[in-house]
Amino acid sequence: MSEQRLRIAIQKKGRLSDDTVKLLKACGVKVNLNTQRLIAHSENMPIDILRVRDDDIPGLVMDGVVDLGFIGQNVLEEESMMRAVANEPTAHKVVKELAFGGCRFSLAVDNDFDYQGVESLANLRIATTYVHILKRFMEEANVPYTSCMLTGSVEVAPRAGLADAICDLVSTGATLEANGLKEVEVIYRSTAVLMQREEALSADKQDLVNRILTRIDGVQSAKECKYIMLHAPKANLEAINSLLPGSERPTVMELAGNSDHKSIRRKLYLSFTN
Ligand code: ATP
Ligand code: ZN
Repeated sequence: MSEQRLRIAIQKKGRLSDDTVKLLKACGVKVNLNTQRLIAHSENMPIDILRVRDDDIPGLVMDGVVDLGFIGQNVLEEESMMRAVANEPTAHKVVKELAFGGCRFSLAVDNDFDYQGVESLANLRIATTYVHILKRFMEEANVPYTSCMLTGSVEVAPRAGLADAICDLVSTGATLEANGLKEVEVIYRSTAVLMQREEALSADKQDLVNRILTRIDGVQSAKECKYIMLHAPKANLEAINSLLPGSERPTVMELAGNSDHKSIRRKLYLSFTN
């Protein structure tokens, strides 16, 4: 890989991949990702895209092998703690929070478990992928437990007799429900972020990064802005307006042939936190 090209690590296949690729495209980065190649070269910008497992991304940025990485905060946090223990470099900058990849990292137990608080988990075995984030939470709560590290299928651990409880990523809760589990404690909230290596980039590379960051802002704020249009009785105009967030007044139009109804058009700003 050429030193002059900006190197960006993205998840090859998984929950962050589609949104990351979509965002890069929306930022004007043209790249052919239809091959199985590890490295893809952008056709219109001096950018190389490295496609790897998400777990490898924080380390690649922290070691300065790549300049930028799109990653879930949970993986970044876990890797930072793991590296701190191993005395490996952890320095990096989080340069943008992204409007995708939202999830929570939660403790869950069997539906019929009599959960009274974290103390109920004392001396039990908890299965998880992100052992350091869980450890920090349990130490702060001062509850002793046994950790069981699983890199996948965490949600089947209780039924398989591998653990008494789990700590796993949840978005809708459907997976927990399908496995007869209930979410009892949210211990960490995560979204995807864009991280950058700590060491300064060349002026050209940093200019390119700044351009990408500005484009991400544009893409994300355009997404947050929605038009809504509704037909409503005149008498309810003020009540409706008071329900709409923001200070901008709506555009109101008379509906032909119906003197009691008006049409309201207004821009609605929504802030998505996933
Ligand atoms: P890889 O093969 O790259 O190691 P993975 O199996 O570790 O993939 P994915 O399941 O693709 O990871 O999840 C990637 C990230 O997506 C998670 O680390 C998390 O930040 C985010 N995410 C959002 N919602 C969820 C969810 N419901 N379950 C798991 N991860 C989620
Ligand atoms: Zn992973």
